[in-house]
Amino acid sequence: MSGVEGTPLDDEAARRPAAGAPCGCDEAVERLWEYVDSELEELDQERVGAHLHECASCLEEEQIELVMKQLVRRCCQEEAPATLRVRIHEQITVLRLRAGTTPEG
Ligand SMILES: [Zn+2]
Repeated sequence: MSGVEGTPLDDEAARRPAAGAPCGCDEAVERLWEYVDSELEELDQERVGAHLHECASCLEEEQIELVMKQLVRRCCQEEAPATLRVRIHEQITVLRLRAGTTPEG
């Protein structure tokens, strides 16, 4: 009997970010909409929120375009509806205020 049964189970675990790992800009932007829509799991919600709180560049106008593109791709549409664009702007404005990126404060 000489069979190797050591099947690595790390595959799935390796794909997920380690619990408590800091959230990077890529991930934050990628999940920005899910975050403002509260679609994330509690842990991710906290990680993304913590990053957005400290990283003003994730809330720049150009990031809004990235979020928009991802949403459009996800919804299989060619263009984001104007209402969606307005809503994203509103949400990101709220996030900016919460993150304290305004001059006052
Ligand atoms: Zn960032």
